[in-house]
Amino acid sequence: MTTAAPAIQDAVARVWGFSELRPMQSAAIAAGVAGRDCLTVLPTGGGKSLCYQVPPLVTGKATIVVSPLIALMRDQVRGLELNGYPAAAIHSGIDAEEARAILRRLVQGEINLVLAAPERVVTPGFKSFLASLADADRLGAIAVDEAHCISQWGHDFRPEYRRLAELREVAPRVPMQAFTATATPRVREDIVRQLNLGRVGCDDGKAEVLVGTFDRPNLTYRVRARRDAAEQTAEAVRTHQRAGDGGGTIVYCLSRKDTENLAEQLQKLRINAEAYHAGLNEKTRRDVEHRFSNETLDVVVATVAFGMGIDRSNVRLVVHATMPKSIEAYQQETGRAGRDGEPAECLLLYNPSDATRWERLIRMSNAEMGADAESTEAQLNLVREMRRLISAMGCRHRMLSEHFGQKYAPPEGLAHCNACDVCLGETEAEGDSKRIGQIILSAVARTNQRYGVAHIVDILRGADTERVRAARHDQLTVYALLKDHRKPALASFIDQLVAAEALERVIDGHFETLRFGPRGVAVMKGEETVPLARPVGTGSAKSERRRRDHTPDAAPLSFEEKQLFEKLRQVRMEIATERAVPPYVVFSDATLRELVRVRPESLDAMLEVKGIGRAKLEAFGETFLHALKD
Ligand code: ADP
Ligand code: ZN
Repeated sequence: MTTAAPAIQDAVARVWGFSELRPMQSAAIAAGVAGRDCLTVLPTGGGKSLCYQVPPLVTGKATIVVSPLIALMRDQVRGLELNGYPAAAIHSGIDAEEARAILRRLVQGEINLVLAAPERVVTPGFKSFLASLADADRLGAIAVDEAHCISQWGHDFRPEYRRLAELREVAPRVPMQAFTATATPRVREDIVRQLNLGRVGCDDGKAEVLVGTFDRPNLTYRVRARRDAAEQTAEAVRTHQRAGDGGGTIVYCLSRKDTENLAEQLQKLRINAEAYHAGLNEKTRRDVEHRFSNETLDVVVATVAFGMGIDRSNVRLVVHATMPKSIEAYQQETGRAGRDGEPAECLLLYNPSDATRWERLIRMSNAEMGADAESTEAQLNLVREMRRLISAMGCRHRMLSEHFGQKYAPPEGLAHCNACDVCLGETEAEGDSKRIGQIILSAVARTNQRYGVAHIVDILRGADTERVRAARHDQLTVYALLKDHRKPALASFIDQLVAAEALERVIDGHFETLRFGPRGVAVMKGEETVPLARPVGTGSAKSERRRRDHTPDAAPLSFEEKQLFEKLRQVRMEIATERAVPPYVVFSDATLRELVRVRPESLDAMLEVKGIGRAKLEAFGETFLHALKD
């Protein structure tokens, strides 16, 4: 924490027990303290909340935080209170009298941080309150969390966010700080423009935009061919249970129906799982969220509707039972794993039909909504990019970073990411790469470079389809030449040939066809070979059984340490239940693990552990010391 001012450093250590700020946190906090407009883009789990929570402690002025989700507001306030940091939340769940009391405490300086729902802050009453607070020089900043909700180009547009610009008129000299995890430049620009960022504290009228690193080194990405989503998910969950990591699992499905089916199958496999989607009634949804947060439910099988309302920081596994519809969605959803910074796994179960299913859905819903061709095409392109990320078989960390316009560098001292199926060598090298490359290219050549992946794969596998017969493609010499290879493997080989520039995709209206790329002829003639990798799960059943899954764990706990970890979790659960807060609010798993490793023998030593500030030390220190000594 070399760049942060001592006052900031002190506050972070005293209240949160963190000895360092993460990159970009210092800059964002500095902007908050200095009173400059600013947009901070950090990935999920990157630590955005700290950026707006710290400045009031340093400036002594109030910050109003606009936040879209009641459940998260409540948990955040409780967490802050446990840290000895008084805060409050104003939303539809509290009555007028309570709201007035909060505002009174704010005016009197008893609290300096208030979270409020977007629809609340734009009411006339609240706006005039803000104006008077600003006039009294008590309002230090307005923070807008999940700021991408303001943009139609984001994945979670909320019309009520549009009106937040009105706050700038009410308090024209108060700086506004926006926060989001959405990385696309278009959304960023939209946020800056709509909130008029750059107006306060910025010399040239240009907003400071702080973009953090998007790579999440603690996540291990895996893609597997989907054979049986329930079986494969259950196996992954059990692997984590055996490792004793004590974390939760989120499984994402494409449709509501899918979530219900999969949850039911998992229950039959004796996995503690529930379905979650926007079609369930409010009470059921609340109940699932609650049980997941309180760690009495291990697995939630959900549509993308789930996650926004969940802050559980020890999600150790995110499974995609179907390919997500864009790399942005994938980043967002996998981002919910390992928010505590501890190792976590992201498993994607893929079948090439997923992309087709998305394409159909997008066309259908866009037709219903009367969307223009351009925006439909843009969405279809996102699906194609996602498919490419899956099947190009390059380092997943590198490909994700590059997609977000950032250069990837492996962790220090390592030659590769060490945290994806490709780099971990879990994919098989295809011994027959030269011949397969030649056959695929000649199939493309012999069909005059006029067909897409699905049809080429049909030809190579010797499929007896209407289209194959009509074009007499069953007469080709390449027909059925690769019939021993599974569909996903062939589709992946084609994607790899595209990545190696032996093939190119041409998008023509609704259709995507393949044609020769710069290296095509050389590969077809066998003068050059593109080394092909085989996605796991597409080989023979035997080779599959030989492979033992590796669970990510940077520094595995010994058997004895695991038992101690379990015990501390138990202690944490008791405290959480007693105080009616989710366990992660008491201490994160990262903190428990460090306690297990360090085994502090005194309260002073305990204060050195990451995540233990003064207030929590006082409240829980003795209890945990006792548990550690036993
Ligand atoms: P975001 O809102 O960006 O998704 P959060 O603010 O919820 O992320 O923070 C994610 C996790 O990281 C939390 O458990 C938080 O306590 C932890 N965290 C934040 N900043 C730091 C830090 N400087 N050092 C250690 N842990 C941190
Ligand atoms: Zn990698």
